[in-house]
Amino acid sequence: MFHYFFYMDAIHALWRECCDQQRHKGYDRTHLIGRAAESFVQHLTCPACGGFQWKSYADNHPAFDLTCEVCSTNFQIKARNDLKPSSSSKVLRAIGATYTKVAGAVGSVAYLLVSYVSPQQIRCLYYVPIDLMSMSYIHAWNPTVSNTLCTISFPKGTYQKIRLPGS
Ligand SMILES: [Zn+2]
Repeated sequence: MFHYFFYMDAIHALWRECCDQQRHKGYDRTHLIGRAAESFVQHLTCPACGGFQWKSYADNHPAFDLTCEVCSTNFQIKARNDLKPSSSSKVLRAIGATYTKVAGAVGSVAYLLVSYVSPQQIRCLYYVPIDLMSMSYIHAWNPTVSNTLCTISFPKGTYQKIRLPGS
């Protein structure tokens, strides 16, 4: 089940700081925001257990970005501008990595989706526990291509919206 989520201080300032720290490393904007999101999440408690002890991985780990060392839950972090559920179907659509990578991680990875207004302002997060992820939510863009990208469509009930203080 879902656990409550607790925040460290000055969370929006933290997001800015995470972005600023990454700025000079030569990454493109999308990559920079992804890295900032990973840094940002490490200042939150684990949504699976409430613990606060993260292990982060270098770029391009095969399946996940962060692990909670308290409950051993692995997390994939996705950041997207203005991410929110469809107003009619309530489906939350996230762009995944390659299909094989996302499909191979079903059953072993939880998702934390960071919805931001700009790199200076996070709107909210969405949390999808490991056991609520399903192969049927993954849609390959071009199934005939071996390294095709995919979209993940999380139905209503699979994700929990996490509001930030003051938003
Ligand atoms: Zn945990």
